[in-house]
Amino acid sequence: MSGVGAALLTYGEQLAAAGAAQAGGAFTDLAPADELVKRSPEAFLLGVLFTQGIPAERAWAGSYLLGQRLGTLDLAYIASSPDAVAAAVAAPPALHRFVHTLPRWIVAAAGRLLSEYGGSASAVWPDGTHVLEVTRRLRDFDGIGEKKATMATEILVRHFGARLKGAECGSVAYDVQVRRVFLRSGLISEDTPRAVREAACLVAPNAPGTLDLAAWLVGRESCRPRAPRCDACRLGAVCPRLVGRNAEGVGPRRSQSSARKKSPESSLG
Ligand code: SF4
Repeated sequence: MSGVGAALLTYGEQLAAAGAAQAGGAFTDLAPADELVKRSPEAFLLGVLFTQGIPAERAWAGSYLLGQRLGTLDLAYIASSPDAVAAAVAAPPALHRFVHTLPRWIVAAAGRLLSEYGGSASAVWPDGTHVLEVTRRLRDFDGIGEKKATMATEILVRHFGARLKGAECGSVAYDVQVRRVFLRSGLISEDTPRAVREAACLVAPNAPGTLDLAAWLVGRESCRPRAPRCDACRLGAVCPRLVGRNAEGVGPRRSQSSARKKSPESSLG
């Protein structure tokens, strides 16, 4: 295993051992929203819908702020109130960039939880379920694709202690932070989901998902799209520092204006 792989795996194992409280720190800086996501599986699942195209901290505050605006997060109310949900999401300041699609995802998710899971999001990931099955179930929700489903499954295991089978089949999300770190550290030389998945399997064959949060945090905290902080990076001593690589493509950096438009810095992509 490369030095980078070993260092990243060690970091991932440290995060996993730290447990739920410290694993990824707070989901969001808004304390009541963070508490809600950690306490309520339904708020977590709705939060996953928000995790796209906006900064992570803002996304994970979404469920709480939606509940504040609606006066409730009752699933039956949400499922039967598409206009109210749409208005709550879009009211300034809007809760998300996707003011048209996100409300539809939220309403559909509430309806699916009621019709298929007895109104309990934790029934999507009961103990003993295989990680691939949980990922598939999450993917069935409108607005949750492969990347978000993989990310959510890893969070369930790491942060919430879900006892799922098949850790060896877990993976890292094909996230812009992860991709940038994998590229610049030389774990991959091409920016494809397959390359990321295979590299994670080579580094951590027993539990590739162990690398997910570790790489994401390195990307967010040190391996920034512009001005990476290599000297402060926990991979700095072993990383080849291929900083000319970006998740938008291998090779010379794009112009700053292009990078600014294309690179969702500190966003969940
Ligand atoms: S910040 Fe520098 S040392 Fe750290 S992963 Fe990125 S390129 Fe490597």
